[in-house]
Amino acid sequence: MIRLAVAGAAGRMGRCVLELASRDPRFEIAAAIDRDAERTFPACDVLIDFTDADGTMAWIDMCERRRVSMVIGATGHDELQFARIAQAAEVIPIVKAANFSIGMQVVLNAVGRIAKELGEEYDIEIVETHHRHKIDAPSGTALTVVDQIKQSRDRQGADEPGAPPVIGGVASPLVGGTKVVFGRHGKVGKRPKGQIGVHAVRMGEVVGQHEIHFSGPGETITVRHAAQSRETFAAGALRAATWVVGRPPGLYSMPDVLAEE
Ligand code: NAD
Repeated sequence: MIRLAVAGAAGRMGRCVLELASRDPRFEIAAAIDRDAERTFPACDVLIDFTDADGTMAWIDMCERRRVSMVIGATGHDELQFARIAQAAEVIPIVKAANFSIGMQVVLNAVGRIAKELGEEYDIEIVETHHRHKIDAPSGTALTVVDQIKQSRDRQGADEPGAPPVIGGVASPLVGGTKVVFGRHGKVGKRPKGQIGVHAVRMGEVVGQHEIHFSGPGETITVRHAAQSRETFAAGALRAATWVVGRPPGLYSMPDVLAEE
């Protein structure tokens, strides 16, 4: 049995993971930890982190010291926090994904291919919608979509290295040379070729929705993914947890998990 710890246990995702794991004979719940329990850490094989970017930093130290594998579902990490995760992955195995749903992995593959085939004649706009409680924007999934498109463009040499991305007027370390605009406001001028627009909508209790629009001469393609229940993320995180235990140190992704099962 896999001894499982869940950080962020009182949150929406943490509760869902615990609920699924408690019905799954592969897991023994060793710890359900929220903010006030940071100093206690029981013996366990893997920790699933659904806290937030700062929470990851608190738990990654602990996991590294105790050689506990990690599944990181929390999002919103900045460049330094990403670097810390990569550093810890030299010591322990870590699966990190901004979106653990299986359907989103299919979407990510599809949008990379579509962007590559359509080229820069087609404008790309990403619209993500989440519940009113979400604290980071845009979503980690939207950033992963940007990354996927950027990689597919890089492969065909369409990217322009050195061109600073525009993120509310601040260059982002996350998107390399791709011209990304996070929302638009004021006299923004004509849309430049190759730009990717990213927009975050926050309302009600929407679990998570992503629309990726590709618009060119006389046509628009829209790829849409809507999560109706948090179970889809929780099940993916548990799948990653069973996969990561016993792996060599490294920073793994959901495609790694799915490829080797
Ligand atoms: P939430 O606010 O409902 O829950 C977060 C919980 O973490 C809270 O109970 C909070 O008290 C706790 N917490 C914060 N810091 C902590 C710490 N240092 N130690 C222990 N507990 C701590 O948020 P949520 O909707 O459950 O989402 C959690 C995270 O997961 C967010 O970053 C969200 O973007 C991300 N998320 C990822 C996926 C995915 O598939 N990867 C899916 C949904 C949400």
